[in-house]
Amino acid sequence: MNYKHLFGPVPSRRLGISLGVDLVPHKVCSLDCIYCEVGKTTNCTIERKEYVPINEVLNELDDYLKQKPNLDFITFSGAGEPTLNSGIGKVISFIKEKYPQYKLALLTNSTLLYDKNLRKEIINIDLILPSLDAASEDVFKRLNRPNPKVKIEKLIKGLLVFKREFKGEMWLELFIVPGLNDTEKELSLLKNTFLKINPEKVQLNTLDRPGTEPEVKSVFKEKLEEIAEFLKPLSVEIIAKFVSRMKVKSFDKNIESQILETIRRRPCTDIDLSTMLGLHLNELNKYLAELLKRDIIKSEFQKRGVFFKIKKVAN
Ligand code: SF4
Repeated sequence: MNYKHLFGPVPSRRLGISLGVDLVPHKVCSLDCIYCEVGKTTNCTIERKEYVPINEVLNELDDYLKQKPNLDFITFSGAGEPTLNSGIGKVISFIKEKYPQYKLALLTNSTLLYDKNLRKEIINIDLILPSLDAASEDVFKRLNRPNPKVKIEKLIKGLLVFKREFKGEMWLELFIVPGLNDTEKELSLLKNTFLKINPEKVQLNTLDRPGTEPEVKSVFKEKLEEIAEFLKPLSVEIIAKFVSRMKVKSFDKNIESQILETIRRRPCTDIDLSTMLGLHLNELNKYLAELLKRDIIKSEFQKRGVFFKIKKVAN
């Protein structure tokens, strides 16, 4: 069976071996973050509907899970915001009833947690990884470029209420963009907000490959360590400091060779590569990040987007 809505399992820096479930088409999202690694948002919306047919997703999951794969998590993620799909609750119930041995994780930008129907639909997941990069409206608008109806106050309220209702773990992600949310003022506001939400962990991240906007840079490890110190007594983890993905079991050397072969012939964008190789953008991104880190490929901003080229021959 060819899967349209499942991808991976991908080697995830936070979740080990994770099977991805993508519930929205490419870049249907309520935000248009300047650091987004999967490109510009093409449909910036807060409308919840069945963006991809849920029956198709359930059939694919059934087909895949009956083979009893070894997974650490089944994760709702993808190149958009998964909670926008109004059928997410059905998918969660299906897995929990038919395959209760698997743990479920949700990567979300937190924008829709104010909605009590959504909170009910996702309450039975095991782990939520929501993002919160700003606590002031001004920084939120500049960094996350939300749909005009999304306000930071409402987003934070949604997170607070969900945390009170939820029995699983919450690992809150803070993505640092230099010059925007690494100022003392914004970090103090964020710290106060995090203390109120009280997640099990705060995870600090920064860019590990080019984002949507070329001027967005990553921060140095020392700066992330300084921020981690500042956020104490919260339990903070720097997830940008990651062991090579090559050490993760599901890292596939063949995929890496196919990527290198393709861009050796001509430089490509991530979307070109994803189409040519039939790889989900999220899965492909893990490989590109690893190849960039090992200095084997380089990226270049051009009119049509970020192109990847060979830098040196891989060992
Ligand atoms: S980073 Fe996530 S929330 Fe932000 S635009 Fe990309 S997909 Fe949407």
